[in-house]
This record gives sequence, C-alpha cells and structure tokens, in this order.
Amino acid sequence: MKKIAFFCIPAHGHTNPMLPVAAELVRRGNAVRFYSFGEFEKKIKAAGAEFVSCDSFLPKLTQKEEAGLKRVSVTEMTIQDIRTTLCMDDFLDKEFKAFQPDAVYTDSVCFWGKLSAWKHRVPMVVSTSTFAFNKFSSGYIKNGPGEIAGLVFGLPRIARELKKLESYGYYVKNVFSLVQSDNDTDSVVYTSKRFQPYAESFSGHYAFVGPSVFSGVMPEKGKGRPLVYISMGTVINDRPDFYNKCMDALKDMDADAIISCGNALEHKKLGEIPDNIRVYPYVDQLAILAKADAFLTHCGMNSVSESLYMAAPMVLYPQTGEQYAVARRTAEIGAGVMLKEDSPGGIRAAIQEILNNKAYQNAAAECSADFRACPGAAGAADFIENACRA
Ligand code: UDP
Repeated sequence: MKKIAFFCIPAHGHTNPMLPVAAELVRRGNAVRFYSFGEFEKKIKAAGAEFVSCDSFLPKLTQKEEAGLKRVSVTEMTIQDIRTTLCMDDFLDKEFKAFQPDAVYTDSVCFWGKLSAWKHRVPMVVSTSTFAFNKFSSGYIKNGPGEIAGLVFGLPRIARELKKLESYGYYVKNVFSLVQSDNDTDSVVYTSKRFQPYAESFSGHYAFVGPSVFSGVMPEKGKGRPLVYISMGTVINDRPDFYNKCMDALKDMDADAIISCGNALEHKKLGEIPDNIRVYPYVDQLAILAKADAFLTHCGMNSVSESLYMAAPMVLYPQTGEQYAVARRTAEIGAGVMLKEDSPGGIRAAIQEILNNKAYQNAAAECSADFRACPGAAGAADFIENACRA
C-alpha cells in the first residue's frame, strides 16, 4: 500500500481526468489524499479518495483580478497560482510531515503541488490535462494578439511574485520552468501517441495513456434524427450571444440539439428556445456524446478527447491559443472542421458539413478505437505506482 498525494487547481478540465486515476489507485489498495476544493468534494469522495479542502487558501480577488481569471489570462492565473502556493506553504509543510506521501501526483499548472514535491523531495508525477508541449508541439498553439500582449506586459508582475517564493524555500529559475513539459519529469498525458503532435520527440518519462474517463458506454449513433451537442466548456461559457446564434442556426434543421450553456440560462439571457432544442446549465457530457452526431465545441482538451472517445465528429470553435492547438490537431486527423464564421449561417453550414460527410465520422470512429486501445486510468496508476519511493 502506497500513500499518494493528489494536487489540482480548482478547474473541472484539470480535475476530471485525475478522478478515474484516483479511483484506480484506491481500488488497488493505495491511500489517496486529494487536495482540492469544495465544488469537487463529492466527485473526489465518490472516487474513494480522501478529500482535503484547500478553499480557505485561495486569495481574495479584486474585481480586476477576477475578470482576468474569467478571461483565462495566463498572467493572472500564474500570479494567483503563486499566491495560493505562498498561502498554503505552512499548511502543506505540516501535511507532508504528517502524511509522508510516497509520491505526489500533481496537475501540470498546480504550482503548490509541484513546488511542495520538490521542497519535500517526494517523487512526483505530473498530470497533463492537455497535449504535452515542447518546442515542437507548441508550434500548434496560436495565441491571439490579446493573449500575447497580456503575457508580455505581465512578465514583470510575474517575476515580482516569483521572487517571493525564494524566502519560502522554493527556488524557481523562471516561470517557464514551472509550466513547461520537460524530458526528465515523469508525466502522464491523457491522449494517445497517435493524437499527440510530435509524440516521437518526448522521452520515456512520458506515459501517453489515452483519455481518462469514467464510462463503459459504447457509441450509439443513428437512432432517430441527428443529434447535435453544443458546449463552450466550464470556464469561458457565459456566451448567450453565441448560444442565441446557435439556436437561430438550428431551429429549422431536421435535427435535435442539446446546449450546455453554464450560467447563461440562469441569468435568462437566452431568447425563446425552439422546440427541437433543449438547453441546460450542465449535462452528463459523455452520455450525450455517445449519441451525438456532431459536437460544436470550444476545443478544451477534455471535451475533444471525450468526443473522439465517443466517435462524435466536431465543429471546432477554439477560444484560446491552447484550444487552437487541440482544434488544429483534430482537423488534421479529419475528425472535425473549423468554424469559419460564428454567424447563424456559418454555424448551420459547418454542422451540415459534419452531418452530411461521413468522412468526419469515420475519422472520429478510428480515433475512438485508438483511444479505447490505450491503457487509460490503469496505465496512469501503473506509472504512478512505479514512481513511488521504495
Ligand atoms: N462538462 C460536463 N458537462 C457540461 C460541460 C462540461 O460534464 O455540461 C465536463 C466535460 O465533460 C469535460 C469538462 O467538463 O470533462 C470540461 O473540460 P474541457 O477541458 O473540455 O474544457 P474547460 O471547461 O476546461 O474549458
């Protein structure tokens, strides 16, 4: 029996793939202590892990900082990540002494997990919830001008925050050494070698285990009218303007649609909902994707992986540089088409292209077979158990 400490930032897309891994390690008789946040407590306990709340260590945000986080500003996320690490330092020192983990399994952008593992000299495995990015694969990322300017102007602020880490015993060369994938760090990546761009450029320290999902469900398509599913994920999803355009695009189509729209529904920002469309704040995405014939997605890595796992071809509508990388790779393997114009006409044309041209569905089905042949959560658990200190 090994003791494994899990760390993650408060984000669905980062936490979700770690849950089946926690469940698998617990099933094998290991003790998993998961440092996370209230909104994930139920899911973590359902996976059989011990939940430790870190909510009280999240820094209080100014309105400007909160807006930056909502925009997924890399500068703002990095600064809050460092501040949370500083707030948690004393608590984690005590936790490491008491729990004495044999290994740390930490999300790739969860600084307090990574830095505590280094500080306490505990073997560490990194959980990578998107592609592994090195100098080759990062060529797939296309940051918009806003993202680039935000980073350039944010670097001096980040450097000031990084300096504060030193007095707590954390020595960090620069911010890139905290976030980049490198060939010496044990890393689990939740995709296949086939889907990972430039997979051959990564060392044996990488385990490409395929999507980590809780689902024994097989794809079940073609029963009744075509089903279109639309979601912008869980972060940048307050887009009532876009959902209204989607409803306009779909209202006269011979298809049914489901939209997962986050808070836009609660705020009553949506217009009249046509009969062939159902709108929810949150859905069981895997169950819907198993039946969906087309998925209009913001191209978060989890959403795209789940869609391919369920053989659902996609209309690709990325919002960030990293999502663009996922979209580009999906288009490259033929399982999706980029949304060229986000008007009702543009949305309708892209969805019709996916529904009418079987080549997209065949490419998604091939990817589904490839993903299902991967070791998944069991492969990740093997890798973590091997990394545990003797
Ligand atoms: N998700 C879900 N129901 C919803 C919307 C999202 O279960 O109604 C899940 C989805 O299955 C995925 C995660 O939330 O696992 C979203 O992660 P992703 O990386 O796609 O995007 P993010 O939300 O991080 O932008």
